[in-house]
Order: sequence, then C-alpha cells, then structure tokens
Amino acid sequence: MDISLKQVGYLYAKDSPFEKRALQDVTATIPSGSYTSIIGHTGSGKSTLLLHLNGLLKPSEGVVKIGETIITAQTKGKQMKEVRQKVGIVFQFPEHQLFEETVEKDIMFGPLNFGVPKEVARARAHELVKLLGLPEDVLQKSPFELSGGQMRRVAIAGVLAFKPSVLVLDEPTAGLDPRGRKEIMELFNQLHEQENLTTILVTHSMEDAARYSDRIVVMHEGTSVMEGTPEEIFSQEERLHSYRLSVPRSVRFQRRMENLIGQRFSRLALTEEILAQELSTTLAGKGERPC
Ligand code: ADP
Repeated sequence: MDISLKQVGYLYAKDSPFEKRALQDVTATIPSGSYTSIIGHTGSGKSTLLLHLNGLLKPSEGVVKIGETIITAQTKGKQMKEVRQKVGIVFQFPEHQLFEETVEKDIMFGPLNFGVPKEVARARAHELVKLLGLPEDVLQKSPFELSGGQMRRVAIAGVLAFKPSVLVLDEPTAGLDPRGRKEIMELFNQLHEQENLTTILVTHSMEDAARYSDRIVVMHEGTSVMEGTPEEIFSQEERLHSYRLSVPRSVRFQRRMENLIGQRFSRLALTEEILAQELSTTLAGKGERPC
C-alpha cells in the first residue's frame, strides 16, 4: 500500500492560546513494500508524523494518502478507523499496554473488537506466537510473568493480529540491551520480508536506518528536508550535521581510513560487514594485508 504526504502541516491545540506547530510542509512518499526509516533530531516532528500514518491524527493542512484513502482536515472518523486496521503501530515500550489475564486473550483482544470471530482470533494468536519465536506455552501465561523481551514480542503480536499491511515502528528497541535490540530488529526484518509488509521505522539509530531500510526520510524542525536511499542520505555528512544528525559509525570509520590511506573505497560502508569487505579489497589492492 503506497503512502504519500503532500504539504502536510499539523498544529497541536489549534486555535487555542496553546497552539503549537509541529509539522509544516511535509512532503514524502513511502512506496508499497519499502522499508523506510524516518530520522531526525528530538522535536523534529517524527512522532507527530507517524500518528498521521494510521489515522490517529489528521493533518491541519495538506493531504495524507494511505492506499486509496485520502485524509485531510475534513475527513470523518469512520475512514480514520478503516486506516487504523491497515496500518499497525508498535509504540515505544508497547509492553506497557498489555493488560489481559493471559497472553492469548491479549493478542485476541484487538481482532475481537473489530468483529473477528473468536475461533479465527484464537487461531491467529497461536500462529503469531510461533511467528514471533515464542514457546507455545506462553499463551496461557499472564503477560506479566514473562521476561521484558518476551513481553515486547507479545505486544508486537497484538499489533500484527490486525493483519496490517503497513507496520509503523516507533523506536521499537528503546530500553533493550544490545542483544535484545539486534534480535528485535532482525525479527522486524524477517516479518517485513515474510509478510510482504511496508515497514516504517522511526529511529535515533543511524546504524539501524542504514542496515535495514531501503529509503530514508529526514525530518528537521517539523519539515521533511531529505528523502532518498541510505547511500544518498549518508553520503551527505555535512548536510546531516546541519540537521544535528550523524552518519553511521562504519561510515565515520571509512572516512578516517580513506584520509589515512589517501584512497576512496568503492562504495559507502553502510554496515560493518561492508566496511570489512571494502577494507580488505582496498588494502589488498595496495599490496597490504589487513590485520
Ligand atoms: P520527535 O518525535 O521528532 O521528537 P515530536 O513530533 O514529538 O518530535 O514533536 C514535534 C514538536 O511538537 C515539538 O516541538 C514538540 O514539543 C511538539 N509537541 C509534541 N507533542 C505535543 C503535544 N501533545 N502538544 C503540544 N506540542 C507537542
């Protein structure tokens, strides 16, 4: 499902003394099936933007198009509800929203509310637990008996239970240790491919944006200022600095090495793996063995 934003503006508490502009003139395209990262400094409008992607907010100005649904300031509630079924959001610390007695009931809650028959919802809960790599016996446990990482997986299953075609992830690894972060990011990558999802990741991690996404939208002071592939975005280091952003660690290392040996690598080292390959070929070409 293609998503596009055209000159979108948003004002919190519009027409009140507390009015606050959060978005202005945001134009971006998120093609169906893409994995798009939204990056930007704190306060640049990322969270406000993602609330527009599943109809939780409607724009004060401009147009948001989600598949065939067009959302403007005039759009009524019913259409917004339809969008909410197609676009699932995994918020930060999604496990804080778990509340049912058992994991099974928690995962079934959303679909039951949208009128899915009980047996279908139950079967879906069982499939999802497997898909997310959880043991089947968690279904009858209380979500609060589980480890932090397992709770997060259950909460993610609750979002996937709606069978969304678009999955929006708001800093989904916040609060996890490095291993947990890697596992969750790999899980989303696998889901993206297996379930043919359009994935939108809001992240502070330039490393994750570089590794997992095929498109990046850069936000600055409420406006979309750059849009392109990770190569296009992360090759513009100075421009990113002007938006108080950096490039991934591997690219920083690449630049230092290039200056040291006086030679450019043949491609941008978006990940450590690419960096290692490039180092090896460049040094081999110079007749030196990498240590
Ligand atoms: P980010 O997610 O990039 O940190 P936000 O979308 O949260 O950015 O915030 C964009 C701007 O909107 C900021 O200036 C922020 O202070 C303001 N803002 C966010 N939420 C609200 C709110 N509920 N009421 C008023 N202003 C808000």
